[in-house]
Amino acid sequence: MSLLENLPAERVTSPHPLVDTAGRVVDISGIPIGEGAPPALIAGPCAVESAAQIDQAARLAAAGGARLLRGGAYKPRTSPYSFQGVGARGLGWMRRAADRHGLAMVTEALTDKELPAVAELADMIQVGSRTMHAYGLLKEIGKTGKPVLLKRGFSATIEEWLLAAEYLLQAGAAGVVLCERGIRTFETQTRNTLDLCAVAHLLEHHRLPVIVDPSHAAGRPELVARLSRASLAAGAHGLMIEIHPDPERALSDGDQALTPERYLALGQELVG
Ligand code: PEP
Ligand code: MN
Repeated sequence: MSLLENLPAERVTSPHPLVDTAGRVVDISGIPIGEGAPPALIAGPCAVESAAQIDQAARLAAAGGARLLRGGAYKPRTSPYSFQGVGARGLGWMRRAADRHGLAMVTEALTDKELPAVAELADMIQVGSRTMHAYGLLKEIGKTGKPVLLKRGFSATIEEWLLAAEYLLQAGAAGVVLCERGIRTFETQTRNTLDLCAVAHLLEHHRLPVIVDPSHAAGRPELVARLSRASLAAGAHGLMIEIHPDPERALSDGDQALTPERYLALGQELVG
């Protein structure tokens, strides 16, 4: 006789019931991401640097077919000596740039401290790879009731990632879009290893919308077009791509940002 046979039904329920019953589409201020919606392009710089820079980036993002503008006013940097972001004033610059160019705005909250300002101005809150495991922060972000872009922790299993989404939904998030951004492996030629297995698995077996960030996966601009095509071919519901009006002058992640020319060509091909 199997050991499971006498187990009461409630003992074998899913560890993430809300993830298992969530809607398949998340609405971000009128822009749908998920099953049946056109692939969503999210583009913008790694960091908000100045009012002029984010405005130029927003114009470029829109020209390439993006519907959402990305960019961090608060940056989770590996080194405390690296540029940490411009902070609160960057949120206002970004909101104005997004509005001027008809884009929705997605930006990261690193701590509870900036969360109220982020929630007030952004259409969607980004949880970064480094804070995917910060459960206290996930609860606070969920409580804002906003849609959330949940990046995968770079060493997180798919199950840990889904449980992080469960924290957000349980706390009240309006929806969660998962973002595969590459995981850490033994390989050193690329910044991370893009886990398209995870994307395929999630699309086959789960409901939450899934997008791919090929920029942080590859860490190099010349790989972004191929990875973008592969992601959409696998069924991803969208892409998040780092772009910069002048990558050589970028204050963070300039070595992976697409130039305007490269981005416009890719956008035209993918969503034009
Ligand atoms: C980012 O989106 O700029 C970022 C810091 O990404 P990640 O959290 O995936 O490293
Ligand atoms: Mn970045």
